Amino acid sequence: MIDGTRVGDQLRTELQVEIRALQAKGVTPGLAAVLVGDNPASATYVRMKGKACDEAGLYHETIRLPPETSEAELLALVDRLNADNKIHGILVQLPLPKQITTQRVLRRVVPGKDVDGFHPENVGKVLLGDPTGFRPATPYGVQQLLLKSGVDTTGKHAVIVGRSTIVGRPMAALLLQDGPGGNATVTVCHSRTRDIKSITRMADILIVAMGKPEFVTGDMIKPGAVVVDVGTNRVDDPSTKKGYRLVGDVNFAEATHVAGAITPVPGGVGPMTITMLLHNTVQAARQWARA
Ligand code: NAP
Repeated sequence: MIDGTRVGDQLRTELQVEIRALQAKGVTPGLAAVLVGDNPASATYVRMKGKACDEAGLYHETIRLPPETSEAELLALVDRLNADNKIHGILVQLPLPKQITTQRVLRRVVPGKDVDGFHPENVGKVLLGDPTGFRPATPYGVQQLLLKSGVDTTGKHAVIVGRSTIVGRPMAALLLQDGPGGNATVTVCHSRTRDIKSITRMADILIVAMGKPEFVTGDMIKPGAVVVDVGTNRVDDPSTKKGYRLVGDVNFAEATHVAGAITPVPGGVGPMTITMLLHNTVQAARQWARA
């Protein structure tokens, strides 16, 4: 079992050294989270991020805006946060309501505060392997999880299922890099991929980010492969207090008999994502303090 909670805690403890060093210079890394509307999953993510900042000793602000917020109002808020010296990282929680063009908002965040790594400048830097770029927290977390769990990616065939700009594509860029946690041979699958099972079965490392509950079954996995399940799906379950439970994109019960190692859901990639967001905020503060 690859334990994201344990590795995340370990990385957060390591990050404390750098947070204290910055604080000694009078810099407390600060994160602003912007939540537009009342999507319950988004509200939960933002709350978890705020709690993680508190625990790590980071400054944070959560700005909640009503669902009818206009694009102009949101852009004005981003401009204010761009100019705020207490804030080193800005994240705009997605999805945004329909009246707002997501790309316009993401491009308004100054690249130096774009701790989600969604601005084209950071996307380019990550592809180039420039360490001043912000790596999107989820794929960065997966890479760190593999590194800290002793999974060597060098020369391995990594198959990624999903090509989203948030997970699949940056994941491919990170695994391709020449360095620790990289040097893999990478295949990316998507909804138009033919005979997906024949490809996933070739994977030494299978990373699944589809948003399709329990799509990957045991017969799609090569015996002994490392399986990383990024999927976080709510499925109805009247037997639970909340009325739902979280499942991944991998059928865990089947996969666990075939895989050599596997991440659970929850407790796998999720805690790593929040940890790497803290990491990126500290990186932003460090780069800001040096500039
Ligand atoms: P997304 O933007 O919806 O992308 C899904 C990708 O999966 C797309 O590239 C899509 O292909 C591909 N896909 C869908 N059905 C497929 C099929 N039948 N066969 C092959 N490929 C298929 O989703 P995302 O934002 O990347 O998120 C993926 C999952 O990860 C979701 O469950 C999300 O909740 C979870 N997630 C978790 C974390 C975390 O911290 N744990 C963070 C982010 C996301 P096309 O491009 O061809 O449509």
